[in-house]
Amino acid sequence: MGMFDSLIFKCKKCGHKIDAQSKSGRCNLEEYTLRDLPIEAAIGMDFFRCYKCGQDHQLDISLKLSSGSSKVKYKVRTKEKGSG
Ligand SMILES: [Zn+2]
Repeated sequence: MGMFDSLIFKCKKCGHKIDAQSKSGRCNLEEYTLRDLPIEAAIGMDFFRCYKCGQDHQLDISLKLSSGSSKVKYKVRTKEKGSG
């Protein structure tokens, strides 16, 4: 019923708090940061716009393998305004 999880991060441009919603995770109305965001919630996230300054952000997901275990790392980067 319209449930979602949220990723909270700061706008790279103006520092405003952005609340990005994902419906692909467990959707328990949890709030995550880049440190504890589960991969299943991250997959549904595409890009987020700061409603204060209009800057688009993109979520980079990278997987790190070390001694038999894997670790997911997230990075938010600004999205360049291209054509379209
Ligand atoms: Zn902003």
